[in-house]
Amino acid sequence: MPKRTLIRGGEVVTPTDRFRADVLIEGERITALGDGAQWDADTIVDAAGCLVMPGGVDTHTHLEHMSANGLTRTADDFHSGTVSAAFGGTTTIVDFVRARPDQGMYDAFQRRLESAEAQCVVDFGFHPIVPPTAGDATFDELARLAREGATSWKFFMSYPGTMVDDRVLIQGFRRCAEEGVLPMVHAENGTLVADATQRLLSDNQTAEHQHHAAHSHVAEREAVHRAVTIAESVGSPLFVVHVSSRLAAEEIARHQARDFAVFGETCPQYLLTSYEDYAGLGFEAAAYVCSPPIRERANQEDLWHALQTGVISTLGTDHAAFTLSQPDDLPPQKPQGRGYFPKIPNGVPGVEDRLMVIWEAGVVGGRFDVHRFVDLVATRPAKLFGLYPRKGTLTPGSDADVLVWDPAADHTITAAGHHTRADYNLYEGMRVSGRPRHVLSRGDIVVSDGELHAPAGRGRYLARATSDTSR
Ligand SMILES: [Zn+2]
Repeated sequence: MPKRTLIRGGEVVTPTDRFRADVLIEGERITALGDGAQWDADTIVDAAGCLVMPGGVDTHTHLEHMSANGLTRTADDFHSGTVSAAFGGTTTIVDFVRARPDQGMYDAFQRRLESAEAQCVVDFGFHPIVPPTAGDATFDELARLAREGATSWKFFMSYPGTMVDDRVLIQGFRRCAEEGVLPMVHAENGTLVADATQRLLSDNQTAEHQHHAAHSHVAEREAVHRAVTIAESVGSPLFVVHVSSRLAAEEIARHQARDFAVFGETCPQYLLTSYEDYAGLGFEAAAYVCSPPIRERANQEDLWHALQTGVISTLGTDHAAFTLSQPDDLPPQKPQGRGYFPKIPNGVPGVEDRLMVIWEAGVVGGRFDVHRFVDLVATRPAKLFGLYPRKGTLTPGSDADVLVWDPAADHTITAAGHHTRADYNLYEGMRVSGRPRHVLSRGDIVVSDGELHAPAGRGRYLARATSDTSR
């Protein structure tokens, strides 16, 4: 007999419905929703006063991620990163695989898989990163990975060592169309970014906050436009990660309006923090350094608007944690770029905060309702990345990844209380009134009342189906 778990007394919320129901779990799957008065169970989870939602799906994390030059690595490994995710109510992550120059894609994938399988506490998938040197042989390996469930590939249009040219975009998007793969782009014109960086350096403008000046809005807009143009030319859909600029959102909206299948993601840091927060800082500005950069405050409302209107479809985090101090057991972190912004490792933490801060600013703040919230953080990313209906929904047959959400919690976000290895939190001091009370992954209670109950390695690899790009 599989173990039976009953989530009792809560209100189930999906992108379309909200109703009182108990949730019955047998083994790893949800088997029934309804009045559970007659259902017996080995474990009862009390959801009184709580909302019961699908576990969060974050399709943009960088755990155990080496920089392109191989000189540094993120502070979080697959264990600390997924523990942090679980505490925040996220039960699925999709991370990345990048091959070293001397390594094949398939080999790189196997090594990442081994490391993740040994450490993750929640389920995970991978997006392979298409290398700048990719040709037929690489795309054949990538196609093999797609058949093993890596059904989205990432193309970087910026970053030395990772930036692909138009030839790779054309050939790659064509292979995506043939293989049923969703191409994802980091949309910044890397040549413009490199040029702006050089001009700042030759003018001795090397301070940490100048990272912002090196990454213009128009460099992001141009890359979105070019990626859409190439995708359209070869008959592929397109997913634009971390949309940070109003200009990029407008570009996406323009092509959606004529029914081109382009989708956008944004991240909490672009909605809730701004250039004004770090423009006046010294080294501490490095805490905010990520690409595209965190932009001017005036830009934020335009991104919220794009979320409200559906121009942006998902909320990921781009969680890439680095520390402001330099622990002995980690390769160079943010201090590597002290006084010289090009050397600051790019990335910010956030996998644990995503649901809480978006709940507070989005739902409590009156920008959208709970249904839109569930769609943005769980259902839509599951659909777009081939995980639905296994993940992202509470339906009989789905994995029992369930978030019991207390909408009356009173919690203050602090670095002292979070579980990533980052030593700062961008939302330090923010008071939030919604918070996970219990988090279940495939029927296991992984976090309950602030305690972790998940051994390293319980997370499983998710072989993903092809993207569902229907709206
Ligand atoms: Zn990223």
